[in-house]
Amino acid sequence: MSLGEIRHDWSRKNVDRLFALPFNDLVFQAQTVHRANFNANEVQVSTLCSIKTGACPEDCAYCPQSVRYDTGLEREQLMAIDAVIEEAKQAKAAGATRFCMGAAWRSPKSRDMGAVVGMVKGVKELGMETCMTLGMLDQQQAKDLADAGLDYYNHNLDTSPEYYGEVITTRTYADRLTTLDNVRDAGMNVCCGGIVGMGEEASDRVGLLLQLANMVQHPESVPINQLVRVEGTPLAQEEDLDPFDFIRTIAVARILMPKSHVRLSAGREVMNDQTQALAFFAGANSIFYGEKLLTTANPEESKDMQLFARLGIQPEKYALEQNVEQSSTEPNIAAAVSPQDSSAALFYEAAN
Ligand code: SF4
Repeated sequence: MSLGEIRHDWSRKNVDRLFALPFNDLVFQAQTVHRANFNANEVQVSTLCSIKTGACPEDCAYCPQSVRYDTGLEREQLMAIDAVIEEAKQAKAAGATRFCMGAAWRSPKSRDMGAVVGMVKGVKELGMETCMTLGMLDQQQAKDLADAGLDYYNHNLDTSPEYYGEVITTRTYADRLTTLDNVRDAGMNVCCGGIVGMGEEASDRVGLLLQLANMVQHPESVPINQLVRVEGTPLAQEEDLDPFDFIRTIAVARILMPKSHVRLSAGREVMNDQTQALAFFAGANSIFYGEKLLTTANPEESKDMQLFARLGIQPEKYALEQNVEQSSTEPNIAAAVSPQDSSAALFYEAAN
């Protein structure tokens, strides 16, 4: 096997071997793959708007938006289309060209589809890229969103199939894979990753990455979240993950999916600058940017930009979140940098 080759037949042994490499060797390999596919000094920046917050019927053990856990989160109804478009306009005025919209739902109800389709169309009319995370989608819903012009859909696998039942019981792993198939079949780009630090074994991190890397087409975006422990959720008392295990996960994701954007997502606020810099060095090249991501803090934009400046990193102007396996007919995507994120929620599903 040659380093950086696009493959969909990774074995557990292959991935175990990568995780077992000495840290310096692993990160060097990841950086080598990264440089062969991306500008190593650019990081894509995305914004996120919570279009419907809290009161989610699902039981994801990490999530403050689940109605089952008392986290003190204030729930909000689905935003009006005009209000979403207004936020998108502000984001655009601040330089954003991609707008991610997240709703805390099991799946969209028929009565909500008109509104979300209207949001996609309205944001597209502004000349912006669109991304959504709304929970599970059936074929028709995926088609309706694709027809409206939705560019990306986020739906995470969260963890390995083996550990999954410890974290979520209200939807199955297979349900998630079906939604991802529906998104692909409808022609949308896929954003799919997981969360580490949920008490899983190292073998579960291998299992998660194997699932992602052996998809018929790699997700264009692969968010790797670190658990944000929120008081009131079942995982509030989880132990810290060794930061080097987090970096190893990023590095292995980069090697397994050379053309995907690997997103450093939730959990960034508890990482120091050194860990974030190491994550970029290991191949992470996308972040969410916002002053406040509703349910948990996110590093302030200015702090992000200061870190970028200290590291000589530029926000990516053209985020080609395109797998080369795809035909390259999409327009370039400029970086989305917005200081207007006061209503954005930290959605594991979009951050995730
Ligand atoms: S992660 Fe998503 S589906 Fe799970 S409880 Fe939170 S909002 Fe609901």
